[in-house]
Amino acid sequence: MERTPSRIVMKFGGTSVADLDRIRAVAKRVQAQVAAGYEVTVVVSAMSGETNKLVGFCENLSPLYDPQEYDAVVATGEGVTSGLMAIALQNLGINARSFLGWQVPIRTDDAHGKARIESIDGATLIGCMQSGQVPVIAGFQGVSPDGRITTLGRGGSDTSAVAVAAAVKADRCDIYTDVDGIYTTDPRIVPKARKLNKITYEEMLELASVGAKVLQTRSVELAMKERVRVQVLSSFTEETPKENGHLPGSLVVDEDEIVEQELVTGIAYSRDEAKISMRRIPDRPGIAAAIFGPLSEASINVDMIVQSTGEDGMTNMTFTTSKTDLARAMAVIEEARPGIQYGEVVTDDSVVKISVVGVGMRSHAGVASTMFRTLSERGINIQVISTSEIKVSVLIPAEYAELAIRALHTAYGLDAA
Ligand code: ADP
Ligand code: ASP
Ligand code: MG
Repeated sequence: MERTPSRIVMKFGGTSVADLDRIRAVAKRVQAQVAAGYEVTVVVSAMSGETNKLVGFCENLSPLYDPQEYDAVVATGEGVTSGLMAIALQNLGINARSFLGWQVPIRTDDAHGKARIESIDGATLIGCMQSGQVPVIAGFQGVSPDGRITTLGRGGSDTSAVAVAAAVKADRCDIYTDVDGIYTTDPRIVPKARKLNKITYEEMLELASVGAKVLQTRSVELAMKERVRVQVLSSFTEETPKENGHLPGSLVVDEDEIVEQELVTGIAYSRDEAKISMRRIPDRPGIAAAIFGPLSEASINVDMIVQSTGEDGMTNMTFTTSKTDLARAMAVIEEARPGIQYGEVVTDDSVVKISVVGVGMRSHAGVASTMFRTLSERGINIQVISTSEIKVSVLIPAEYAELAIRALHTAYGLDAA
């Protein structure tokens, strides 16, 4: 049985507040929780499409925009919905008020565009709730040490919600979205994907970090660290807790709460990948450092790496970065050319990374070989492979993404009955 919570955070993503009708609808869901006696804090995203529009404005004016002004612009989307949600709640007779990030305040570092939350003082919010008020917080944003507006990276409202839940010691953080839970893979790609009633923090963290965007990676990291119970559920379907006490959505929990552990929990994909292949590099000690040192100094994250066996004193190095970092990575490599002395460099951004994740991999062999066999049976060529304790990832041509995900989902026995 789930313990009945007395204080909850309800977070609504972009599609859940996409227009005024949606805002009215989710305000009613908040009203229902308030009527049931819960203390509620609401966290909202921008209306769906708004953040993309605002990012587009900045890029259009200047491709090398000032990140501080970018944050000032893109944070406004959440400001609008926090005010609108407060009005919608007031219309239902609820005492609600909006909070922008700086008003809470949600203090972050000064890494504009991808800031990290440093602290949230929960006292004001707890005071509001105890006096019968519902705080409605603009997600995705905070304030830097020198008072500038910051944003937390795409999908960052999830992290706002979990951080607020930790700060107010909420019994649960409910993340309302456009799917009714966490699935074995993206249900929009695989209709036979199965909903998971529970998933461990560790597996969700791994799935999020390899592309399952249902929760922002940092939100899961934070939930794991602060022991916040996170539920993912739909704001579109009206589901009440089931009679057996199970919650309607998917719960992210500790490993010991999972009764039956599957070998593979889920499959994720990321299209935000670009491959860089450097050919005919002199095969000598220090070559990897000469390539990856400058990339890391430029804050470019390198993910998968393969170096082929040398021949005639020459070797090839292939690695991946995010698509957004590709242009900067190429500039860095070009600049480092005199020190590395490579022959040529080729890039390809028509690639997708597919990852299978499961804690069962720790104790069972064969997950990787099933992956390779399944892809080869479909004639899909693997370009790069990487593994970790509970994950195997492959890079394949982008056009095979759907085929590969569906085939793997079946091969690991994940299809819903
Ligand atoms: P929101 O705007 O509510 O934050 P997102 O679009 O960020 O919503 O995240 C929800 C989407 O995540 C779903 O529509 C779904 O397509 C996608 N998704 C990817 N992987 C999964 C998964 N394993 N389970 C559920 N949804 C997933
Ligand atoms: N609105 C922001 C985004 O689109 C944050 C979020 O939705 O979580 O990335
Ligand atoms: Mg999201």
